[in-house]
Amino acid sequence: MKPTLVLGTHNRKKGTELAALVAPLGFEVRTLADFPGTPTVDETGRTFADNARLKAIGYAQALGQWVLADDSGLCVDKLGGKPGVDSALYAGTHGDDEANNDLLLRELGDAPPEQRSAHYVCHVTLADPQGAIRLEAAEVCRGRIVTSRDGVGGFGYDPLFEVVEYHRTFGKLDPQTKACISHRARALRRILPELRRLAASGDWQPRV
Ligand code: IMP
Repeated sequence: MKPTLVLGTHNRKKGTELAALVAPLGFEVRTLADFPGTPTVDETGRTFADNARLKAIGYAQALGQWVLADDSGLCVDKLGGKPGVDSALYAGTHGDDEANNDLLLRELGDAPPEQRSAHYVCHVTLADPQGAIRLEAAEVCRGRIVTSRDGVGGFGYDPLFEVVEYHRTFGKLDPQTKACISHRARALRRILPELRRLAASGDWQPRV
């Protein structure tokens, strides 16, 4: 029987990216949608690490399953690191990507390219069914905020986030490239060998 891994996110597109990244490990991947009625964990932390831990521990304890959660966001240098941990609700409504992108463009105004540097951050945390943290890692992906939306790929700020080396936004780059170079891919790569080892161990059982 395949080991079960629950992805601790309500963000469908983030879940799709996480699922693709762990696919080579052969898990039975579940999402929170498979466990209707699970109370949402409030992201009350002030750092990516705090929120990733809150989600991983909270959902693992609620479900009695191994849970992988990520907390991620965009930090723009000229804006002092904003929107940062508040990336999902920057413009006021959680997950309103269009409004968030409009606000980001307004805040940066006509700043020249050299003042539009930014990076995505991703902190991943794996919690066991008892709610103990077993693995975690953080990584970044550097880029620049363009002056108008370009492309419809990815999610969130991707139409505005240009990976300078590729001369393309994540909105324009294909998903396979994003899956190699994104903050989420890099963070997961750090824990992948240990995740593989744990999944194959006798330890990987749901809570009874
Ligand atoms: P979280 O679900 O609290 O981690 O919030 C993540 C938010 O950060 C998303 O709603 C997006 O606004 C932004 N974000 C994180 N990762 C990405 C990404 O890969 N592409 C675009 N936006 C992202």
